[in-house]
Amino acid sequence: MTGQRFGAWTRRGILGLAIATSLTVAGTSRGDDTATWGPAHFDGHEVGVGTKARLSFATERSFTQDSLDVPLLVVRGDAPGPTLCLTAALHGDEVNGVEIVRSVYDALDPEKTSGTVLALPIVNLWGFRNGSRYLADRRDLNRAFPGNAEGSTGARIAQRVFQGLVRRCDALIDLHTGSNQRANVPQVRTDLGHGGATELALHFGVGIVIDGRGPKGSLRREAMDAGIPALLYEAGESLRFQRDEVARGVEGVRNVMEQLEMLPEAPPPGDPQRVFHHTRWVRATWGGIFVTERQLGERVAAGESLGRVTDPISGDQVEIRSKDAGTLIGMAVPQVVLPGFALFHLARQDIDGPVEASEAE
Ligand SMILES: [Zn+2]
Repeated sequence: MTGQRFGAWTRRGILGLAIATSLTVAGTSRGDDTATWGPAHFDGHEVGVGTKARLSFATERSFTQDSLDVPLLVVRGDAPGPTLCLTAALHGDEVNGVEIVRSVYDALDPEKTSGTVLALPIVNLWGFRNGSRYLADRRDLNRAFPGNAEGSTGARIAQRVFQGLVRRCDALIDLHTGSNQRANVPQVRTDLGHGGATELALHFGVGIVIDGRGPKGSLRREAMDAGIPALLYEAGESLRFQRDEVARGVEGVRNVMEQLEMLPEAPPPGDPQRVFHHTRWVRATWGGIFVTERQLGERVAAGESLGRVTDPISGDQVEIRSKDAGTLIGMAVPQVVLPGFALFHLARQDIDGPVEASEAE
């Protein structure tokens, strides 16, 4: 269900592809040019041409001297090419991306790679260790970009990552999952008004592209504002390693690398993706036990039942219905909910209005 390729382009999607075609970033890089292709340097470490390395990227020092350092994986290709950055676990409990980065890194042969891959598999190491979305100070790292060297812990980490790593990237893929016991159908989010990102999003190839800039302070929005094409891949739910969602992510990253001519394989054809410009949440109107038979990726008609919330004490039951037609791109897992809890994330193609900025990416 979640993997099907969808049909028609929207007009804006076609337009985005046309604009993007002239903006492929292959063969160039912010930090390196073809004539001087050689070892790459990071925080005093050198990674030679045609090799890869596991390093540590210093952010802030804690009292243990190292607990806020971030692991950094580097693949320095044999031939010149662009720099692709991968980031995962900005939200420490969103672990599918950690496995995506590990799989991509392990499979890459630097002697058959062009350009450079810079990957931070666990940006929020504190959250990852503690199974938490947030940092130790309860801040959301993915609202702290581009960061501030004199700000909160999150702002400092964001500043180091943004200045030390992200500004070296020609393209960036940030890996996430649903939050707070919600699951997301595999989807890519980006700003289709940004030509360079549009082409990457379409070639990532999971079938669904959500158009929007993303929340202020999010890595992908701030990277785009700095001129770096950035995608967000969302798939599955937090605190789980999910085989299908990971496999799709790995394939998507490799598709993008092929598109950027970083791998010898021919780039994917860029199958039509289903592009959505508007999303909204359907919320619980009643507290109680939420159950549903709905599946991620399903289309729903206006007024259709999506599930039920039952008061466990009184037995009273309320049917959850969608006001609009659309596609379920995210939904809560069955659980006890309070009134107002966001149950279903519905994507719509054909309704004018602002993109709702309530996505927990
Ligand atoms: Zn996230």
